[in-house]
Amino acid sequence: MPPGFMLFCAIPMLRKISTILVPMAVLFAAWVIVFRIPLLPQEQQGLVPFVTYLLYIVGMLLACHFRRGRVFLALLAVGVCYHLFRTQLTHGTDTPEAWLVYRALSVVVPFNILLVALMREKGFWSMAGRMRLLFVAMEIGAVWLTIRLDQHALWVALTRPIINWPALERFAMPQLCLVLILLAAGIAVRRAVSLGSPIEGSVFASCVTLFVVFRWMWSPHVPETFCAASALILIMAVIQDSYNMAFRDDLTGLLSRRVLNEQLPGLGSRYAIAMVDVDHFKNFNDSYGHDVGDQVLKMVGARLMNMTGGGSPFRYGGEEFTVLFPGKSAKEALPHLERLRQAIGDYRMTLRGEDRPRDEERGKSRRSGSRKAGEVSVTVSIGVAETGGRQISPQEVLKAADGALYKAKNRGRNRVCLGGGR
Ligand code: GH3
Ligand code: MG
Ligand code: MG
Repeated sequence: MPPGFMLFCAIPMLRKISTILVPMAVLFAAWVIVFRIPLLPQEQQGLVPFVTYLLYIVGMLLACHFRRGRVFLALLAVGVCYHLFRTQLTHGTDTPEAWLVYRALSVVVPFNILLVALMREKGFWSMAGRMRLLFVAMEIGAVWLTIRLDQHALWVALTRPIINWPALERFAMPQLCLVLILLAAGIAVRRAVSLGSPIEGSVFASCVTLFVVFRWMWSPHVPETFCAASALILIMAVIQDSYNMAFRDDLTGLLSRRVLNEQLPGLGSRYAIAMVDVDHFKNFNDSYGHDVGDQVLKMVGARLMNMTGGGSPFRYGGEEFTVLFPGKSAKEALPHLERLRQAIGDYRMTLRGEDRPRDEERGKSRRSGSRKAGEVSVTVSIGVAETGGRQISPQEVLKAADGALYKAKNRGRNRVCLGGGR
């Protein structure tokens, strides 16, 4: 949020929380599957590790293709952890070398997931993306060297207990490992909920996976099943993120005009279409700045997402929105649109400090619906039209809704008008 103003903008929480809930559901499924794998015939059980490797390879290729550098690094970190577990640690930490590998893994892998949780996406082939890969390559080289040269001291020091608290022993992992995982998980949850990004949710799932893998490393089928689930979650996140980029409007989170155009031909013979337009929005931007204008559009988008009466909202472009009402007449849609108009008009946004209008009086006189200083609101005009059982194309209905919107503007704005001369 830009500094200097407070905004109570209620974007539906469910979509944001689902970025955590969906990965957790997949991890829960992994937990159920862990107990089912021993019931499978031996040859099928043997396939599980290959499926896990396959998911990591597919995930890395996808992340690379969609330029998701952070997802690539998360897959690399958890994937390397899984590979070293399978090749070096299957028999526990009974040799000094295995101990060293375990200690190094328990610090380096959570440390890298913490870095992924902290960093912003900067692409894959970009300069920043390449520098990150170089850093990881150097890191792997350095860790390998310490193991080859038998440098125990560093890893023993890093995995020594930080505080003397016996309760922590039940986690069966070095305290630094636990701290790094918890830190990364906290940051990922915070970002997932505030940004509503599936990628952040998948980073959180990687943290949970690391916790489970380090805690139950030698329990049958735990590492391969949870690492597979973690890769699957990261792959799903890349796909969901790409879908969002292609079909959702970045600012409001509403579906884009592209999706609207795809849905129009499949509406059937009876439906209503409404066009919603923010009143005097150019003046609002001029008075309060583009950033505050953007926050207003977010608020309008959030109100549209809560649309009643089965209306599906879209961002048509700029400060214009479209609502489809399949199977409804314009009259049936009317009370729901009226409720929307009121909800938007009643909403008060509090501005403070530098974000108050630069010229308060000018702002007051030019905006419709502005209240006392520091508090602003906007209104919308709405036009709605229907097929009315006639054989007319969706484009014609859209045009009629636009005509009704024009009528609402001419009649003084902040109102809903029906298309077709009424
Ligand atoms: P009217 O009541 O007749 O609709 O007046 P208006 O000022 O809303 O209409 P106009 O079409 O002249 O202006 C639309 C403004 O919306 C112009 C543009 O600056 C603003 N706008 C469009 N998209 C965005 C956006 O994404 N963010 C912000 N902040 N402003 C936008
Ligand atoms: Mg407009
Ligand atoms: Mg407008």
